[in-house]
Amino acid sequence: MTVQDIAQDYLSTGRLEALPTGHFIAGKVTPSSDRRMESFDPGRAEAFADFSLGGDAEMDRAIDAAEKAAMHWRQVTPAERCRVLNNVARVFRDQADRLAVIEVVDSGKTLAEAMGDVQSSARLFEYYAGAADKIDGRSVNLGPDHTAFTVREPVGVTGHIIPWNYPTSTFARGVAPALAAGCSIVAKPAETTPFTALVMAELLSEAGVPDGLVNVVTGLGADVGAKMARDPRIKQLTFTGSVATGVNVARMAAPNVTRLTLELGGKSPLIAFQDADPEKVADGAYWAIFSNSGQICSAGSRLILHRSIRDEVLALLTDKARQIRTGHGLGAPDMGAINSELHLSRIKAHVDAAKSRGANILTGGDVTSDADTGKGWFFQPTIIADLEPGDPAVQEEIFGPVLSVQIFDTEEEAVALANGTEFGLIASVYTRDVGRSMRVAGALDCGQVSVNDYWAGGLELPFGGNKKSGYGREKGWEGLDAYTKVKSVTISNAS
Ligand code: NAD
Repeated sequence: MTVQDIAQDYLSTGRLEALPTGHFIAGKVTPSSDRRMESFDPGRAEAFADFSLGGDAEMDRAIDAAEKAAMHWRQVTPAERCRVLNNVARVFRDQADRLAVIEVVDSGKTLAEAMGDVQSSARLFEYYAGAADKIDGRSVNLGPDHTAFTVREPVGVTGHIIPWNYPTSTFARGVAPALAAGCSIVAKPAETTPFTALVMAELLSEAGVPDGLVNVVTGLGADVGAKMARDPRIKQLTFTGSVATGVNVARMAAPNVTRLTLELGGKSPLIAFQDADPEKVADGAYWAIFSNSGQICSAGSRLILHRSIRDEVLALLTDKARQIRTGHGLGAPDMGAINSELHLSRIKAHVDAAKSRGANILTGGDVTSDADTGKGWFFQPTIIADLEPGDPAVQEEIFGPVLSVQIFDTEEEAVALANGTEFGLIASVYTRDVGRSMRVAGALDCGQVSVNDYWAGGLELPFGGNKKSGYGREKGWEGLDAYTKVKSVTISNAS
């Protein structure tokens, strides 16, 4: 079946073929419990399936299975881990069409975005397949009396709490390095996007990942997520989501001194200086805020413009934003849906509050629907101009297609505005002056900076935040650090 066939089948029946109905524990889909929850297609605002709400018992069984599997996997040769991970990448590519359609229906994103996520998930497995047999220690020179070296050991069972904005690739960016390092996995997808993690777990098994090594338990964050965070058998917890939940998870994990990676979102700036090309800036800002309907932790949600190019950039950008066609992800729109009705209401509340403060809204500002069917949860591409640094639309993460614009006159002012929130995830600088780009990149308090392009590289680069955007790094070689622990070994050379 082609991707169009799978999509057409869903659009005419409102159902997806062969969705797993239970949790994935110890290598199989387990019988589902009585407690179930409906899953909604955000592009239609209609339920298309339901899934199992796990509890302590299911999470317990999953961690048990992962603990047993970890003991075996850590003994498997790195070359064999490498072979299995490469197989996973191949199976994901074979199943890309099916996975992408499920992701569209579950999350609301466009098919092109979902395809990109599936391909980058396959790439993550290839990248960490290449790393699996290169996780070496080093020898350390202590002089003639001793021989000393370090080894990198797998941490054991790892827990992964996944958000709803990138369900496929967030799953892959935690699972792939954990497997490469010799760890086992228990994952909990978000309540509104449970299906791709379950399907990916089935595909991992098909690709030769041993039973029990990757387990997926669906359910509410407050139930199965909290149980995972509190369990002492989890040795590393990788969380992606909101600051409030991340802080809560850190509190729950603290008594066991569980290692944590927190990826908590941002309010990332795109700074454009007077010598930047206005068309490039408008183009960069467009993709930075309207990709994935703005539901990206690293979205460029603040445009910080030099006063001299304000009018030209905003005219170009507003014109582009007004042409965006929102619609169901399978209908090839420019922008997809907002993931849930609850989240749509949060975005609306942010924008309504800005309106009541007298905000200068250049375009958008309200909820909308699929241009063809009149259904679904959508928000208009929105630009709010000329905001003061303390304005809530500048300070708070809206996590939707809403861009806040600030104006500056000097380089110092631009850096102060860019650094002037509690977040520090990524940033971008548009200028033709190389010296200035390096000065500003050095002064920005964040985890990634790109120059004259918004998205700062791919999965080969470490990704993660400073300040309340979190700590720890995923992707790149540094993405292995969370899943390995370093041991030093010293031998006396005395005869
Ligand atoms: P959330 O932080 O509540 O959910 C993220 C994940 O945490 C989900 O899997 C959820 O089930 C789980 N979770 C929730 N409560 C938990 C608990 N008590 N213990 C353990 N796990 C728990 O996010 P949300 O409510 O879905 O979205 C709210 C805000 O989060 C958004 O407006 C956005 O700002 C932010 N967000 C950020 C990202 C990101 O990529 N950084 C992703 C999604 C949401």
